[in-house]
Amino acid sequence: MIKAKKSLGQNFLIDQNIIHKIVNIVEVKNKNILEIGPGTGNLTKEILKKKPNKFLAIEKDDVLVKLLKEKFHSNIKIINEDVLKVDENCLSDKILNVYGNLPYNISTEILIKWIMNMNKKKIWFNYLILMFQKEVADRIVSEYNTKNYGRLTILANWRLKIKKICDISSSCFLPKPKIESTLLLFEPKIDFVKFIDPKNLEKITRTFFMHRRKMIKKPFQELFKCNKNLALEMGLDLKMRPQNLDFDTYFNLTKKYESLRG
Ligand code: SAH
Repeated sequence: MIKAKKSLGQNFLIDQNIIHKIVNIVEVKNKNILEIGPGTGNLTKEILKKKPNKFLAIEKDDVLVKLLKEKFHSNIKIINEDVLKVDENCLSDKILNVYGNLPYNISTEILIKWIMNMNKKKIWFNYLILMFQKEVADRIVSEYNTKNYGRLTILANWRLKIKKICDISSSCFLPKPKIESTLLLFEPKIDFVKFIDPKNLEKITRTFFMHRRKMIKKPFQELFKCNKNLALEMGLDLKMRPQNLDFDTYFNLTKKYESLRG
């Protein structure tokens, strides 16, 4: 019996209905799979039954890596590493379908990292199927003019098509976590607004959402100095709050910011 490590956010999926649901979201047969944090291999086992072409896994816990090797032998290739330290663009020359039931803080961090590092031409994944804390998932899939809309929504929707698959009750995991979860499916967008440096989108959204209840006048002036004409030209009412601006407005603001800085 494996003792779950709290420090590594180990809550293993034990509900077979949910596991089957996850495995059936997109085609597995002959696809190349990456699983992040396979744990004791509950999901791994079901994915392998669907006959993927190659199966790659990244697991940080040495004890679990040993167990996974004993269980699955050469059917999976395991990288014993912290996923945050892995260069995802160099994982495989084949395009991957990615599954991850990771610790919740890491899910968000890894999603942002992957988005920021997404190559403009060659994209390393077809699908990401990732588990989030429900509240975080609500932010990712929210729309403007709602309270959940923010930086995470804008960054995620910039490069990804996002679909909520379902909420998952805490009783589907062992040990049972204190929070509810949500499973999201992501696909790369073919068309997206191109920036000189995506970090500028991060900067713009960070500055605007610093005080989400306040008017956008202050962050706007901070980023664009006192350029009143620019606000007018962009049709921006500086009395609005950050959540009142849609995706395109944030993308346009970023483009403007980049063009003004030459
Ligand atoms: N996917 C499995 C296990 C979920 S628990 C299941 O659904 O049953 C989370 C898993 O992520 C654990 O196996 C844990 O060891 C692993 N993990 C935690 N932090 C990690 C990191 N930074 N990099 C890679 N794996 C990590």
